[in-house]
Amino acid sequence: MTEGRHAQPPTYHRAVSLADARRHLGRRGACVYAGGTDLLVALRAGAPWVAGVRHLVDIKGLDALRGIARVGDGIRIGSLVTGAELATSALVRRVAPVLCEAAALAAAPWVRARGTVGGNLMSPHPAGDLATALLAMGSTAEFVTPAVLRRSIAIQALLAGHARIPPGAVMTGVRAPVAPSSAYQRVGRRLAFTRAVIAVGVVRHGAQLRVAAAGLGARPMLLAEGATVPGEDGALVDGLVRRAIGRLRPARGTGRA
Ligand SMILES: Cc1cc2nc3c(=O)[nH]c(=O)nc-3n(C[C@H](O)[C@H](O)[C@H](O)COP(=O)(O)OP(=O)(O)OC[C@H]3O[C@@H](n4cnc5c(N)ncnc54)[C@H](O)[C@@H]3O)c2cc1C
Repeated sequence: MTEGRHAQPPTYHRAVSLADARRHLGRRGACVYAGGTDLLVALRAGAPWVAGVRHLVDIKGLDALRGIARVGDGIRIGSLVTGAELATSALVRRVAPVLCEAAALAAAPWVRARGTVGGNLMSPHPAGDLATALLAMGSTAEFVTPAVLRRSIAIQALLAGHARIPPGAVMTGVRAPVAPSSAYQRVGRRLAFTRAVIAVGVVRHGAQLRVAAAGLGARPMLLAEGATVPGEDGALVDGLVRRAIGRLRPARGTGRA
């Protein structure tokens, strides 16, 4: 067996309800298994971040974690919503072009069809496209943890490592204010199949901007919040995102495929 690989494959559990998932996740070395596009690749490669994984808790059957809906002034996205669903949703295109564009540009069709919002936010990767767009939107993630029924964490704090996520927590969904004036762009070695080297999401609320970028550090980060720009032209965000991406340089070691 190759050095670094697991001596024994993890045990598989298929959760039939959120309560069942929380019960399985109470086991030592238990880990949420959603689309598996990051997790299974990491397990096969013996990546350090999955070294302690002994149980895979498959949450794909939990319909409560699906769906995209308008809620008040915002949008709620279930954690099992895939990149493909975001890329083709008329609602997301209308109220959050930044997220729709990020999803359409990410990965390849088979990866988009499986990879989920929850997995993109929880994978320790510098260039999560959905994570970058959701950060630009000022989103909040909802979790259920083994001890607490519901907990909300700002995605900015989650990605910056400022929020402690208890072992066994399941992200159930994400809430974000609508961002009809927004845009996303990425630069990669190839257009498809590889992650971005640099990516930028820009959201404009009136004259105020939020700018998030991937590829500059260990996780996507917020570059600007509250910067003001004149005018009300929604198309301006496209120019802003292009200018920002032209000026940024990737951090060493973050531009891996
Ligand atoms: C060939 C290839 C190309 C790729 N290209 C891109 C790309 O261009 N852009 C990009 O952003 N990503 C890319 N990815 C990465 C991946 O597809 C995404 O990050 C995807 O969104 C991960 O979601 P998943 O459901 O597959 O996560 P999984 O692999 O199932 O899980 C990943 C991690 O998140 C945790 N997790 C998942 N869901 C939850 C939840 N609801 N609650 C708590 N923890 C959870 C898991 O425990 C695990 O630690 C690529 C992957 C591959 C294999």
